Amino acid sequence: MSNKVFELMKEMEHEQVVFCHDPNSNLKAIIAIHNTTLGPALGGTRMWNYNSDDDAVLDALRLSRGMTYKAAISGLNLGGGKAVIIGDPALKGEALWRRYGKFVDSLNGKYITAEDVNTSAADMEFIYQETKHVTGIPEYMGGSGDPSPFTAYGVFVGMKACAHKQWGNDNLSGKKIMVQGVGHVGQYLVGHLIDEGAKVYITDINKDRIKETTDKYNVEFVEPADMLNVDMDIYAPCALGATVNSDSIPKLKCAVIAGAANNQLAEEKVHGRQLIERGIIYAPDFLINAGGLVNVAAEASGSYNREKVTKDVEKIYDRILDIFDLSGKENITTQEAAMRIAQKRIDDIANVKARL
Ligand code: NAD
Repeated sequence: MSNKVFELMKEMEHEQVVFCHDPNSNLKAIIAIHNTTLGPALGGTRMWNYNSDDDAVLDALRLSRGMTYKAAISGLNLGGGKAVIIGDPALKGEALWRRYGKFVDSLNGKYITAEDVNTSAADMEFIYQETKHVTGIPEYMGGSGDPSPFTAYGVFVGMKACAHKQWGNDNLSGKKIMVQGVGHVGQYLVGHLIDEGAKVYITDINKDRIKETTDKYNVEFVEPADMLNVDMDIYAPCALGATVNSDSIPKLKCAVIAGAANNQLAEEKVHGRQLIERGIIYAPDFLINAGGLVNVAAEASGSYNREKVTKDVEKIYDRILDIFDLSGKENITTQEAAMRIAQKRIDDIANVKARL
């Protein structure tokens, strides 16, 4: 597939893809810049032991595209970008992050990085030593720290909007909710759901994270292989993408899908439609998981105010209800409705910018 990179860039409308290599620090990174109409491309850096370079390229392309729509629908003046580092997260270290920081710096602010899967505020601190184009740096350095609590809060309020649509009431008390992946976001989400009185099931493949969560909260652990057998009201994918697919959709026993993972639908059009046919409400991932982006965007703007960020994250509730309305009126999937609204904002602003 690597011989098809330009074909994919054309198909997904990417502006630029940068391949970064440094044998000394064993760095292999791909920075994908999807669209900078609204502003610099902001998106996290993911570290993952990809099966192949092709998988890494595809992940970077899909994730960066999602960031464009996420920023646009959230009313932010940011474009979409994302980076992936190919390698075992257990082997990450200062030299790798600082060398990577130099590559980010070479883009002169066209790409701003942040945390993602397997990267932390401490890693951002190393990157910050080589470039100022990084957000989510620790609070003691003047940053806003881990964005995950805001992502989780956005998912929580978005989930309430889904409940309002599906059951006419946004109270999650007593609802059976499966949180798949209790990492940075999943654990904070579990906290909100427990506070609300939900019956929470968790599943994960990481023993430490399972223990942390079951020690802290009154939740029921389900083996990953058994997840689809659980009778649940809400499924919250908070691990990796593509878990909503032809295999899982017929088996899922839920009425709502609302979670933090990016690219939840394996194939947007096919699986979005299948969910409608099954009567399952789907909260578009790039809309419901935008809380962390709203937070790091505020940090990057130079005028950070936690209360204002919290209020901005709460806007996810109404945005989700708007998407459901449009989806119903136009008979399109919720993902299509969200993309339509995001694309319209990008086109409108491109027009504004094109004028004197
Ligand atoms: P994380 O790495 O901290 O947590 C992911 C968790 O999922 C881990 O505990 C991992 O063990 C678990 N997991 C992996 N594969 C699994 C499987 N097959 N079954 C069950 N569990 C599995 O990542 P995170 O920061 O919590 O992000 C979670 C998801 O949300 C990712 O898709 C990420 O891109 C997305 N997201 C995160 C943020 C953020 O602010 N951190 C913002 C937007 C979107």
